[in-house]
Amino acid sequence: MPSGEGVNRRRFLGIAAAGLLAGSSVPAIAAPFSLAPPRLLNFDNLHTGEKLKTVYWEDGRYLPEAMRHINWLLRDFRTDQIHPIDPRLLDLLTNLHARLDSRQPFEVISGYRSPETNAMLATLTDGVAQNSLHMQGMAIDIRVPGRHLGYVRAAALSLRAGGVGYYPHSDFVHVDTGRVRTW
Ligand SMILES: [Zn+2]
Repeated sequence: MPSGEGVNRRRFLGIAAAGLLAGSSVPAIAAPFSLAPPRLLNFDNLHTGEKLKTVYWEDGRYLPEAMRHINWLLRDFRTDQIHPIDPRLLDLLTNLHARLDSRQPFEVISGYRSPETNAMLATLTDGVAQNSLHMQGMAIDIRVPGRHLGYVRAAALSLRAGGVGYYPHSDFVHVDTGRVRTW
């Protein structure tokens, strides 16, 4: 039988060792990418009728296959021209969707616009800028079923992640990854 003193000393050393381990293990458990949740987007393109629900980011990287599908869904549907969509725009939408606490898809009114399409639209409506960020895959016009348009706008503004345009008569909100601004 060990003496009482010996037991206490061993217990003390055990506690000290546990403390050291806990201290030294902090960097090792600092959020590996696999612990970050996958990023998922759900789109319903109102012009083409195409729907897409896909994980586009997982384990610290954007998934090329998913990005290709998104680029296609958000193409210039008038000309079928494709342009890479800014990954930051996708992350903006992911964050927006989280704020809206919705299970519904983003209804897409306009994603990428070719320069020809944008110029054509600019002659038809006041709401289309000559140098629109839609032409760089940095902008999207959306609405969300079950969420009031004003609420979508407010949620987008709260992100302070880029431009937010409000088009209540056309029933959509424009978001982009340009400077933080609003109209
Ligand atoms: Zn727009």
